[in-house]
Amino acid sequence: EPDDMFRAIRHDYPILGDVIYLDNAATSCSPEPVVEAMVEFEHRYRSNVGRGVHRFTRIATQRYWHAHEKVAEFIGAEEGVTVFTKNTTEAINMVAQGLTWTPGDRIVTTILEHHSNLLPWRSLEKQGVTLEIIGILPDYSLDMDEFRKALEKPVRLVAITQASNVLGNITPVQEIATLCREKGVLLLIDAAQAAPHMPVDVRTIGCDFYCFSGHKLGGPTGTGVLWMKKPNLIPLMEGGGTVESVTDEEVVLIQGYEQYEAGTPNISGGIGLGVAVDYLKKIGMDKIHEHEENLTNRLIDGLSAIERVRVYAPANPETRIGVVSFTIDGMHPHEVAQRLDDHDILVRSGFHCCQPLMSALNLPEGTVRVSIAHYNTREEIDLFLATLKEIISQ
Ligand code: PMP
Repeated sequence: EPDDMFRAIRHDYPILGDVIYLDNAATSCSPEPVVEAMVEFEHRYRSNVGRGVHRFTRIATQRYWHAHEKVAEFIGAEEGVTVFTKNTTEAINMVAQGLTWTPGDRIVTTILEHHSNLLPWRSLEKQGVTLEIIGILPDYSLDMDEFRKALEKPVRLVAITQASNVLGNITPVQEIATLCREKGVLLLIDAAQAAPHMPVDVRTIGCDFYCFSGHKLGGPTGTGVLWMKKPNLIPLMEGGGTVESVTDEEVVLIQGYEQYEAGTPNISGGIGLGVAVDYLKKIGMDKIHEHEENLTNRLIDGLSAIERVRVYAPANPETRIGVVSFTIDGMHPHEVAQRLDDHDILVRSGFHCCQPLMSALNLPEGTVRVSIAHYNTREEIDLFLATLKEIISQ
């Protein structure tokens, strides 16, 4: 029974003992091996990285470096540079600020985007860059005709999410990557919601930049990743740790991730992130995806059968992840979330940092959002559904 395997790992997450945690799209829980790796750093070898020769710094440097290797492997990156960041937001800003823009440059993005994959591009408008926003169809899928049309004129970069943090739809990044390659357009993928929930491979996709958050895949908070195919971004910051040599005449930057990680990094966080991807890999991303898909189907079917509930989800199970938005007629989303919290069920409510999408969907109060991780169970989904029914009928 595949479900039993996922039940067995719950002892790695003591935090799940008291609540039903269904806010995984905001941040997910760290398994014990991740927490232990962070504590081990504090207890046994806390020191700086890339500096000095003593034993602590040697261990820390080796493990911190190795964590980058593990993350690169996790996303199938055989080339390019894998940089540790604070989060997805920082990764996207590093690209927006690290490319050189010319007035008239066009960027294509979509209405599905999180503010973190919209505002860094909008801020370039003051440099004369223009932004085109592709819409969605009534079934919530991207309007690919509009997309293709937008690429008929010269475009510098496409920035798109691989999975929506509101509607849960998976976007056709493979097809978009092919279009971008044909036209010589740079492609940035926001994988904040995709990387934790499905097998991903930057080689197969063929993108230029791949951004995601460590804290949404069981890694420590304050961790994220920017993978870039070619290390030709201008670093957002310079300083200690980024240089090979500094003389009066010149500064030679290190040709690795170090050039993009100025100053002392989040060392225990980075090491913890390496453990988190190992942990997921051991379970198997395909198994995780399948388990979450089963739970999502159960959740959407259950929600759709409740009176007064409106579900905003793509119909095809193959194109969705375990992020499900809904509203209840006559109840504010925050009230629903508060009432669920009274029953120890934790979900998100509001705009989910996607206000343009909420306007497009005409949802002025936002939605309630349930988001699933691999450690959630059928029983939790059923209890959530039963509790929601009870709240609605009161
Ligand atoms: N993009 C998407 C699709 C997200 O869901 C999120 C987090 N909600 C972000 C970007 C931003 O992630 P972070 O807060 O870790 O920077």
